[in-house]
Amino acid sequence: MVIYGAIKEEIQRELEQRLSREIVINLFLSIWDLGVLESIYEDLKHKKSVFVINPAFDFFDIDVFCEFVAQALKGGKNLYFAPQINPDYFIKEPFWFFITSLDAVVNFLVESLYLKKSIQTDFRNFLHKSLRGHSISRVDIPKYLTNLSENWESFFSQDFSKEFFLKYSDVYFPHPNNVHIAISNRCNLECVMCPYHSKEYRSLQTSDFFDKSLFMQTQDFKKIAKYCGNHKIFMQFGQLDEPFIHPKFLEFLDIAKDYGVENINITTNGTLLDKKNAEKIVQSNIGHITFSLDAIDKESYKRIRGYDYDTTVANIQYLIDLLKTSKKKTTLGVCFILQGENAKEKSMQFLEYWLPLVDKVKFHQLSEFELDKEGSFVTKHQRQFREYKQRHTCSIPWQVLFITPDLKVTFCCNSMSVYSTSSSIGGGA
Ligand code: SF4
Repeated sequence: MVIYGAIKEEIQRELEQRLSREIVINLFLSIWDLGVLESIYEDLKHKKSVFVINPAFDFFDIDVFCEFVAQALKGGKNLYFAPQINPDYFIKEPFWFFITSLDAVVNFLVESLYLKKSIQTDFRNFLHKSLRGHSISRVDIPKYLTNLSENWESFFSQDFSKEFFLKYSDVYFPHPNNVHIAISNRCNLECVMCPYHSKEYRSLQTSDFFDKSLFMQTQDFKKIAKYCGNHKIFMQFGQLDEPFIHPKFLEFLDIAKDYGVENINITTNGTLLDKKNAEKIVQSNIGHITFSLDAIDKESYKRIRGYDYDTTVANIQYLIDLLKTSKKKTTLGVCFILQGENAKEKSMQFLEYWLPLVDKVKFHQLSEFELDKEGSFVTKHQRQFREYKQRHTCSIPWQVLFITPDLKVTFCCNSMSVYSTSSSIGGGA
């Protein structure tokens, strides 16, 4: 097996010791480099197993990491593992990670980022040009280049990066490339960790956003779909809402397709995906569906999501079977928020069960809330971010728009939660 990723030598030693075998690790600056993609293709062509860790990032849980490599070796699959720091904050902690089929990632990178010449590619090219003289080959990468986000200031001063975004925003970000839409403010569940709908957090909200039902109107949705279609913007459903609650949701998918929206993703709890909805979803031929599950057994699922685990799993399985017999390209993922006792052990069982069935298995850390000086609920990350003055410049406001069912437009998921709850809590799925 060949592993691609920027990884510390001691982690490599640990890995080899635990797994009792030699592991080849090729370093790279970023999987976004065409050179790395070519090398991966070469290895795949020669039928080597390939495991890719992205981004170049060495602050992660070694136990979890070794488990994932062991799984990859056992399954003999080509896999992609992405532990991420929270990109918006300068915090050295994994915020979420996922594991998926490598082919899907490589296809995405080649098709979306290179062939379609997306914003990110231009931006990366700009960075690479700025780094002229530094090798970005797979060996001998200067330490300070192994993590772009962490070492932002090493080659861009904060003032420069701010100026860069402001000066070139029209060039690099003429429109968002991603629109997240909450088509209602309703969900049929009250998951314990949900900042929007759990009983505990509802009682703390100081905004009246969730008091009355809000459902996006068809004529308004059409305008958004037209804009997204014209600019080839990616659409994401499932924000602070369960999209299947909206009576027009399936119709909205057709409208979006009619207006030329090519990439549509849905995040759903899966409870309302009955056979009829599943058949319609398959016909819609959308890009990707993520199911928020968070449990691998009936009891935990009931405790966290308050619903019947077997019903939800049967819904997902029905969709998996339908997709297998169809020629549609819709990919599926499942999501697990690490929380409660035995979270690590359960996450491994979750991975073992779902990895053979779906395209992506994704894990999030549960946000821990605490009271700040003003009495607002904030996550540990948010508090650290406020204390940390040297944060790098974030490009998300130029790339992603969030739209609420009453047509308020905000610029990131944090502002959406602030708007909807009047406190700084974030998250939800
Ligand atoms: S976490 Fe998702 S499914 Fe659960 S209550 Fe919140 S929005 Fe609904």
